[in-house]
Amino acid sequence: MHQALRLTCDKTALQANWRWLRDRSGVEAGAAVKADGYGLGARETVAALAEAGCTTFYVSTWAEAQALGVLPDGGSLAVLHGFGPDDGPAALASTARPVLNSAEQAARWREVAPGRTCDVMVDTGMNRLGLRAEEAGCLEGLEIDTLMSHLACADEDNAMNAVQLERFRQAAASIPAKRTSLANSAGICLGRDYSFDLVRPGLALYGGVPRAEAAEHIAQVARIEAQIVQRRTIRAGESGGYGATFTASADTEAAILNIGYADGYLRGFSARGCAFAGEMALPVIGRVSMDLIAVDCGAAADLKEGEWVEIDYDLPTASEQSGLSQYELLTALGKRFTRRWI
Ligand SMILES: *Cc1c(COP(=O)(O)O)cnc(C)c1O
Repeated sequence: MHQALRLTCDKTALQANWRWLRDRSGVEAGAAVKADGYGLGARETVAALAEAGCTTFYVSTWAEAQALGVLPDGGSLAVLHGFGPDDGPAALASTARPVLNSAEQAARWREVAPGRTCDVMVDTGMNRLGLRAEEAGCLEGLEIDTLMSHLACADEDNAMNAVQLERFRQAAASIPAKRTSLANSAGICLGRDYSFDLVRPGLALYGGVPRAEAAEHIAQVARIEAQIVQRRTIRAGESGGYGATFTASADTEAAILNIGYADGYLRGFSARGCAFAGEMALPVIGRVSMDLIAVDCGAAADLKEGEWVEIDYDLPTASEQSGLSQYELLTALGKRFTRRWI
């Protein structure tokens, strides 16, 4: 069935982003592929990154681990939400490791899967998932692959970063594990003090720019194109769209595009987003509807119904336009796209 909306993901850009993050960190780089590869496709992401040399992958849940199926040769998978009371069957049927987050999870893992390797999250200030350092006694006898923690403010120059770094150094010195890991995408930009043995980028793999240091080095991975459903002239003095928030000051050529908030193109783009016909910018006019937007196509006078235009989805730019985070921009993308990797 034809869909008038497509999402194209660039495998070469994904791989180049991973290599840049690895080289910047100077250590082994894994990849966070939770939320179906940040909305772009976990299987495709894993295959592309395995080809580039990545061997450690992270998902959030056992359901995501199962959906990923068999990993490429030499790959390993860790489940960030750990090992909850209902995870026994899924975990036993899987080769993935849980990232144990609490004393309860540690006790449960020891009982259900004695001798099997796990990862461990220690909390160093995020207060989300993870053990407190003083609870480390509960890990006695566990076979720990990676001891990790997660930075709360790495995308900012925040005093918290150094505090978490110091706390993690202390935890790493007292909890025996094969590897240690602290940095996400933004953490990698903070410098090699944050690298430890293994880094865990997510956002920047997919074209997100977590900090200025990465701006010139991270390539766009996801591109969106929508088809023109109708062209019309909005006459001077007439309004357009829900709420009649746009009023034409002169006759305005508009293209109505097949994308809306149900596709993840949320209302923050109203009167702020942009599409492109080649080099020509076509600004969004009026409000984003559920399935449609209107763009001013005065700059591209001969655009016709049925032609495709690219929506500006460069993540830092689109984040600025919409007020959405780069993470939200990726994971909000809906089901009506024809998705392809090139
Ligand atoms: C999501 C996640 C990452 C990746 O974070 P980004 O900010 O997307 O690079 C790394 N570690 C943990 C524990 C995560 O939950």
